[in-house]
Amino acid sequence: MKIAFIGLGKMGLPMALNLLKAGHQLTGYDLVKSQLDLFAASGGTVAPDANTAAKDAEVLISMLPASQHVQSLYLGEKGLLANLKPKTLLIDCSTISPKVAQAVAANAKAKGFAMIDAPVSGGTAGAQAATLTFMVGGDTNDVERARPLLERMGQNIFHAGASGAGQTVKVCNNMILGIQMLGTSEALRLGIANGMDPKVLSDIISKSSGRNWVLELYNPCPGVMENVPSSKGYAGGFGVDLMLKDLGLAVENAEGLSASVPLGKLAQQLYETHSKAGNGQLDFSSVFNLK
Ligand code: NAD
Repeated sequence: MKIAFIGLGKMGLPMALNLLKAGHQLTGYDLVKSQLDLFAASGGTVAPDANTAAKDAEVLISMLPASQHVQSLYLGEKGLLANLKPKTLLIDCSTISPKVAQAVAANAKAKGFAMIDAPVSGGTAGAQAATLTFMVGGDTNDVERARPLLERMGQNIFHAGASGAGQTVKVCNNMILGIQMLGTSEALRLGIANGMDPKVLSDIISKSSGRNWVLELYNPCPGVMENVPSSKGYAGGFGVDLMLKDLGLAVENAEGLSASVPLGKLAQQLYETHSKAGNGQLDFSSVFNLK
């Protein structure tokens, strides 16, 4: 299949490489030359801009930082919707506002395009290993058309509902994750202040009612677990600033709907304080060190 891939960053590049490995023909575009060089070195064709990349594509996948990047890629005079043939299936995998995802997809539909939102969970390791979870919003026919490609990049493909539903699930998931990381860190620090060994504490709680994903698989206390960011100086993983972005999406979404998210708001403030102290690029589990 001829695929255009726009946004070959930390997530997009390994996802695109998995599609290349599956035998698809990929044309890619990114603003950063070094990413294009890595893509070309693995057999991808580099295009000079997004419209050229997408010209003959049957499917276009975008993996961009935030809502504004997705809006400017698809909308406006120079945007893809004004320049592409409507036969192209559009799949946006970026994490963006559910409202923006709905608006861009509605614009696409008005011009005859099929478009789905398909944000992911699983991080860069999941992108490399093709074990991502996709949370997909859109019409069933379009989701089923995309499914064989998504299966090459991920392990779990969920059709969450109509357009924007994938982004809604993603926003809810990451709000839980952000809050869970803060709560788990707080409890571990309390135990340590009482003289507990954090490993003993974690082992017992992992078999008790306080058990959760952070504690069992992503422990934020250095030395408790191997191969997690907390044991590597909080390098790699999922950055504080990305968590902050996702909590911002959750709070903004809740405000638009008069939904109450007091813990989401508090989590946003705490990660913001941590980021402003110079930790924005560290893994989000470094919030363990927030005093
Ligand atoms: P990234 O910053 O590494 O990659 C984004 C890429 O998009 C960059 O290479 C950038 O140059 C490119 N880009 C920006 N505007 C562009 C444009 N107009 N045309 C072409 N390329 C453009 O970010 P990432 O970590 O790959 O994250 C991408 C998305 O996935 C984000 O929405 C993020 O929230 C989400 N996400 C990230 C992770 C993670 O662990 N990194 C996990 C799940 C979801």
